[in-house]
Amino acid sequence: MSPKTVIFDLGKVLVDFDFTIAARKVMKRSLRPPSPLSALTHFSPLVCRFERGEITDRQVFAEICSVMGYQGTFEEFAEEFSNIFTEMPEMIALHAHLRAAGVPTYILSNTNTLAEQHLRRHYPFFANFDGYVFSFAVGVMKPEAAIYEAAERLCGCRGAEILFIDDRRENVEGGTARGWQGLVQESPAKTIAALRKLGLPA
Ligand SMILES: [Mg+2]
Repeated sequence: MSPKTVIFDLGKVLVDFDFTIAARKVMKRSLRPPSPLSALTHFSPLVCRFERGEITDRQVFAEICSVMGYQGTFEEFAEEFSNIFTEMPEMIALHAHLRAAGVPTYILSNTNTLAEQHLRRHYPFFANFDGYVFSFAVGVMKPEAAIYEAAERLCGCRGAEILFIDDRRENVEGGTARGWQGLVQESPAKTIAALRKLGLPA
């Protein structure tokens, strides 16, 4: 069946991102920049807690200051941490086509408050969805079942009525396990072709 609603992941589906841009800028302002390995082992769990909503942006900032000797202000940190995105134009156009045809669309993303605020401020397409499920707001991350349940409640659809597009297979499988239609995004061209095949106005 043709899906009634389309749920998009954000990173590597609608916008590309490069976290090393943030890491480079933050390290440049720091007295004790960590080695690449300790950066990975220390900061990956920190970002994960941030994306689960367990800690606030101010707490992340305080941790970066204390561990790395970061010298910038909170506002500088917020900008450096979140200015890592570029639009994927074919996907933004695809989304606009769906909207113009009246197909409800949603975002389901593992993300943090600083990224969300940055995207809202700088990317007009971001305002144009029917609803948003963010990991930091619901306190769970893909591929945990509770975040997909939150998306179902929000959009009022279930099972094969939903098409979910994500670049990570395990995240797509979190949806298909509930009967959703799922698409692992490999390239915008392949995603657009797959949506047309499903009868959507892509
Ligand atoms: Mg992604």
